[in-house]
Amino acid sequence: MTQERTASHGAMQASQLEQAVNDTLDQACRTVGAAAQQVERGVEEAVGHARARMEHAAERVEVAFDDTVTRTRGLWRRAWVALVRWFDTSASVSIDGPAADRIDWLRVIPFIGLHLACVGVFFVGFSGFAVGVAALLYLVRMFAITGFYHRYFSHRAFRTSRVVQFTFGLIGASSVQRGPLWWAAHHRHHHRHSDQPADLHSPVQHGFWKSHMGWFMTPRAFGIDWKVIPDLARYPELRFLDRFDILVPVALAAALMLIGNALERYAPGLGTNGPQLLFWGFFVSTVVLFHSTVTINSLAHVWGKRRYATRDDSRNNFWLALITLGEGWHNNHHHYPASVRQGFYWWEIDVTWYLLKLMSWLGLVWDLKPVPPRIRDARSRQRAN
Ligand SMILES: [Zn+2]
Ligand SMILES: [Zn+2]
Repeated sequence: MTQERTASHGAMQASQLEQAVNDTLDQACRTVGAAAQQVERGVEEAVGHARARMEHAAERVEVAFDDTVTRTRGLWRRAWVALVRWFDTSASVSIDGPAADRIDWLRVIPFIGLHLACVGVFFVGFSGFAVGVAALLYLVRMFAITGFYHRYFSHRAFRTSRVVQFTFGLIGASSVQRGPLWWAAHHRHHHRHSDQPADLHSPVQHGFWKSHMGWFMTPRAFGIDWKVIPDLARYPELRFLDRFDILVPVALAAALMLIGNALERYAPGLGTNGPQLLFWGFFVSTVVLFHSTVTINSLAHVWGKRRYATRDDSRNNFWLALITLGEGWHNNHHHYPASVRQGFYWWEIDVTWYLLKLMSWLGLVWDLKPVPPRIRDARSRQRAN
């Protein structure tokens, strides 16, 4: 009896034990299964993340690459256009944003070269004849700029024939100040926005150097606003001068070299030669002419007296009038730009006006627009400075 009970007790214990072992095994299986699932999910997630990150990175590399290619292409294109523009100003590229107001160094290399070339005078020597040619070319070309680029093309202050118009456009073009259309378009813009933010060469707005020369070295100033010069744009010969504005200066330089060489041979008494005429007559004369002309943009808006309370800062300045053949009476000019005279009174020296008057007696120019005395004598009540 006792034995039987013991045996059945043992069997029960064994079955309980088996049950417990089975339970434990089941639980262990479940736990392991769950853990495996978790691991699997974790691995899948990690793989997913990694893939997304790699795709993102690949996209970024692609975008950066495209960007670099576009930018490089843009740079090359701009560089190419800058070089082409040395010879043909119709080459166009649209540049916006801050880059439009930064100096385009590649394009202005010839302009820098023009200045550096002046050092050549120390190597070619000196003669009264060469300096005389430089002075004469300064005066003739200054007159073409003031009398024609400014008073005629920009302001239509008198009338003339197509031949005289072209002749002085041609002489003006030898001054390396671009063609008459570019010059007049920018000058008309200056009068509309004088000393306002849109005025590209206002010393009041942009400082001395920008107003003196920095402004036209930027892509923004390179083009021509054809809308403001319809009266000039209809002449193909003027458009030609503007488009190939390097031709006339190069022709002048070459002519000086040839003439100088001929004089050395046939008139040795003058003591000159080709390189001397080239360096004095072209490089020095052109650089001095250039800087004298642009003082009207830079200095004539800050230095001098204001007779009229114009809405800009233009000044009358005797010294600037002297070196620019009359343009220094810039406050007069802003007061009444239509006048062919800029010196409004007899004591205001205006050589350009005298020469235009002389040309009118010869019948070369006519309809010289005077300044009406009423406008001339309308002295400002609020004299500034
Ligand atoms: Zn001005
Ligand atoms: Zn003007």
